[in-house]
Amino acid sequence: MSTTFDAIIIGTGQAGPPLAQRLASSGMKVAIIERGRFGGTCVNTGCIPTKAMVASAYAANMARRAAEYGVTISGSITVDMKQVKARKDRISGKSNSGVETWLKGMSNCTVFEDHARFGSAREIHAAGRILTADQIFVNVGGRASIPPIPGLNETGYLTNSTMMDLDFLPSHLVILGGSYIALEFGQMFRRFGSEVTIVERGPRLVDREDEDVSNALREILENEGITIHVNANITSVAKRDGEISIKGLRSDVRGSHLLVATGRKPNTDDLGLDKAGVETDKRGYIEVDDQLRTNIPGIWALGDCNGKGAFTHTSYNDYEIVAANLLDGANRRVSDRITAYAVYTDPPLGRAGMTVEQARKSGRKLMVGQRPMTRISRAVEKGETQGFMKVVVDAETKEILGASVLGTGGDEVVHSILDVMYAKQPYKLIQNAMHIHPTVSELIPTILGELKEA
Ligand SMILES: Cc1cc2nc3c(=O)[nH]c(=O)nc-3n(C[C@H](O)[C@H](O)[C@H](O)COP(=O)(O)OP(=O)(O)OC[C@H]3O[C@@H](n4cnc5c(N)ncnc54)[C@H](O)[C@@H]3O)c2cc1C
Repeated sequence: MSTTFDAIIIGTGQAGPPLAQRLASSGMKVAIIERGRFGGTCVNTGCIPTKAMVASAYAANMARRAAEYGVTISGSITVDMKQVKARKDRISGKSNSGVETWLKGMSNCTVFEDHARFGSAREIHAAGRILTADQIFVNVGGRASIPPIPGLNETGYLTNSTMMDLDFLPSHLVILGGSYIALEFGQMFRRFGSEVTIVERGPRLVDREDEDVSNALREILENEGITIHVNANITSVAKRDGEISIKGLRSDVRGSHLLVATGRKPNTDDLGLDKAGVETDKRGYIEVDDQLRTNIPGIWALGDCNGKGAFTHTSYNDYEIVAANLLDGANRRVSDRITAYAVYTDPPLGRAGMTVEQARKSGRKLMVGQRPMTRISRAVEKGETQGFMKVVVDAETKEILGASVLGTGGDEVVHSILDVMYAKQPYKLIQNAMHIHPTVSELIPTILGELKEA
């Protein structure tokens, strides 16, 4: 059976549902297809559940530190993983059912629950039907990428998705990978009470960050009792005496559970893209132009599957770009956006624009301002003085090129810098601004007043 729509959207991640809403409310007949859980990665196995779990871990840590604040808690602090999971499931479940109800109640929009595949550039096969449309939007996201380490399949491993089912405490969680997802899970499970070992192939954790940021994060995690191995060349994994053993490292690393967090891959391998003639790069990411059009007219790719971003906000921004260009006659581009993200360790890392290393590579003359959290009154009052803030400025144009705020509230604080960057205003604008006391943000003007050539 063949049904014709004006637009078909594959995937209900961060771009698909709002795009369905915009297209449907403009009078178009829309189909949206989801093979898994409504809301995709962010809602079910990514941002929302992990940040809910990070909050439980933060509470456990603060409870253990209570005496530092003059608060007495009698008895030991234990974490009930069933309750942690139940809280996480409530929060994430609400978003998941919210997306489902929203889409199923949307006028002009038909929801199909199945795996979708291209039959041709205008045809999608799903739910035993052939759906056709002149406009097709791919928002299929990604999943954990599993490295070809001998023994991994036999040993068994966890990913960000299966971590969501844990309602018990692994006695020793070994994590392969030393990037954002690994660090967030590592710190939270350490705070829940697991022993944690992080095994990273490269020379340092989060190697996309400046070395001082990466070293500070390592110190923060090691201070909490996490063991970190870098330059790890794992040759195999095996199960021995009921434990998982990692081979190829200088010392023997064994754990009760293994989490693989070594990167992501796009869900494009079983989408029939070849039938539509849509091109991907070597890693399977759909090739798109600056307005998210694929090489086939009438087909767009949004979110993680286009390789232009790996965050909820980049996927949502993709939707905004496509919707504005199609429906509002705008000319928005991916290259208009400034890199921004946070890592939800405690303290968090808020990032905007370039790292100092990237800025240096660009050949510009630079000025850098920096301040440790120990010299920020708000951080001292809160007893959360780990980390530092750093801003890099173009010495000639006086525009801010980037910032790293590793410290309490860093995920929020970085936005004041980000917004001045979007405004393309010189750093003096924010240097002369009056900020609220006591906040972490109030020191941004001070840092900008103390810039040094770098
Ligand atoms: C552990 C973890 C923590 C994260 N934390 C953060 C964070 O704090 N902040 C942040 O910004 N980002 C975070 N991210 C990244 C963020 O979750 C993703 O960037 C975001 O969800 C990408 O959204 P998307 O729209 O590209 O697709 P997704 O959300 O991945 O959705 C794609 C959807 O398409 C469906 N689908 C796939 N193939 C098909 C098919 N053939 N037919 C039908 N349906 C299909 C899938 O089932 C899925 O529902 C995190 C990710 C992980 C894994």
